Amino acid sequence: MLFDPKPKEDPKDLFDREEEISKLRTGIKYPLTLLLGIRRSGKSSLIKVLMKEEDALWIYLDLRKYEGKLYLNYRDLTQELEKALNTIPDKLRKLLNGVKGVNVMGLEVKLKWGRGKVEVSDLLERLSEIGEREGKRAIIVLDESQELRKLKGYNLLYPLAYAYDNLKVSLVFTGSEVGMVYRFLKLNDAGSPLFGRAFVNVTVPPFPRDKAIEFLRRGFEEVGVRVKDDELEDAYSNLGGIPGWLTYYGFNYLQERDHRKALDKTISLGVSLIMEEFRNFLSIRRGAESRYYAIMRVCVKGCRWSDVKRAIEAKEGVEIDDKRLSELLQNLTDASFLIKENDEYKPADIMISKAFESPINMGSY
Ligand code: ADP
Ligand code: MG
Repeated sequence: MLFDPKPKEDPKDLFDREEEISKLRTGIKYPLTLLLGIRRSGKSSLIKVLMKEEDALWIYLDLRKYEGKLYLNYRDLTQELEKALNTIPDKLRKLLNGVKGVNVMGLEVKLKWGRGKVEVSDLLERLSEIGEREGKRAIIVLDESQELRKLKGYNLLYPLAYAYDNLKVSLVFTGSEVGMVYRFLKLNDAGSPLFGRAFVNVTVPPFPRDKAIEFLRRGFEEVGVRVKDDELEDAYSNLGGIPGWLTYYGFNYLQERDHRKALDKTISLGVSLIMEEFRNFLSIRRGAESRYYAIMRVCVKGCRWSDVKRAIEAKEGVEIDDKRLSELLQNLTDASFLIKENDEYKPADIMISKAFESPINMGSY
């Protein structure tokens, strides 16, 4: 069902995206693929559908839950790996026996994270061997991989670079905070283990107007509900083309049976999700909260660097360092709250504009 708010897994529930799926299908034949797009554009759905379609040794790690956390440690990482390994077929799981730090008890895999801990490179090496033996590619998916930049006390880039260079595994990194994924992987940083490695880049853009409306029309048709064309148009003008918001709208409509109510409900949920994500963003940037709120407010309808400088200086009554200001703007663009086009910064999504337009969301800022 198109209006199911969970990530889609069944190919028949995935609307459009032939091009992205086909690029991804190519990507997984290579060592490294980045799947990037803002939140709720449909990255997890694309991966999950591909996991159903492509026979491979899939290892899928969902890192979204670390969004609100300040950091993760080796134990968190091994727990996520353990969870993922426990979903592979039983007979393959048994083949993990013998890797240091791995216990297969009955059918359950346990990974050690303390003394005698499992090494990610050993694990990847074994997965590569199992894949080769089975004639399947081992594909490791790190969904919302930018969270891994908060991994403390362990540099995951070394085993990943080792896998890239020596093993038959494919790595797929998804990310909603596009700039943060680059910051984590440091592909352009000469001192970094993954420096200079080639990768396949797949981006997942919002639907353009026609597709968005067709998505809604198809979703309603599927459940036999008739909705007026101008309501579909109105839904698009208010929500834009991000599949996640369109899906919520459809889902809400089916409950409310009223366009206006469904739209209001979607916007109010959307705005609260965005504000929660913004608070997560701020949680690791203590001290600069009011400046970040101020920037978002100035940039709601688009802004230039100098507009922001003027606004912050007017608010604080002191001069702000140019480098510091650029850094704040860069952090907001890297986290995909703002996008930069030419010299203009603007909210990455209509819902982000709505969230920062409304003074109620600004709290004491
Ligand atoms: P992301 O991982 O990029 O945040 P999700 O895959 O979780 O996005 O998708 C967000 C929401 O939008 C989910 O409810 C999902 O079912 C829906 N969705 C996204 N893309 C599509 C699509 N192409 N067809 C149908 N539903 C989609
Ligand atoms: Mg996702």
